Amino acid sequence: MPLIQDEKLKCAECGYPIVTETLEWAPNLYVAGALAELEIGLISRNISGARQAAKMIANSV
Ligand SMILES: Cc1cc2nc3c(=O)[nH]c(=O)nc-3n(C[C@H](O)[C@H](O)[C@H](O)COP(=O)(O)OP(=O)(O)OC[C@H]3O[C@@H](n4cnc5c(N)ncnc54)[C@H](O)[C@@H]3O)c2cc1C
Repeated sequence: MPLIQDEKLKCAECGYPIVTETLEWAPNLYVAGALAELEIGLISRNISGARQAAKMIANSV
């Protein structure tokens, strides 16, 4: 993925993004859904995970 290479975004060996506890992958770049799986866990892919991601991101900005 060009963005990962261009911005040197950190990924785990499994390919998922390594993000902060506020779901920030790079300055002002936040993730939700599957991309947040290493931080939120399996629920990241459902509505409950989307709500949790929204709270985490909103609380950090
Ligand atoms: C078939 C299916 C069934 C599901 N069933 C369930 C279920 O029963 N229970 C459950 O908890 N979860 C379920 N899910 C998962 C749930 O739908 C997602 O976890 C949730 O919708 C994620 O919410 P989100 O707001 O992060 O992303 P999304 O709902 O995907 O919203 C992202 C929005 O951003 C918009 N967008 C994308 N790119 C851009 C852009 N460049 N510019 C502007 N807008 C953009 C999209 O159009 C979309 O409206 C299901 C998913 C699928 C596919």
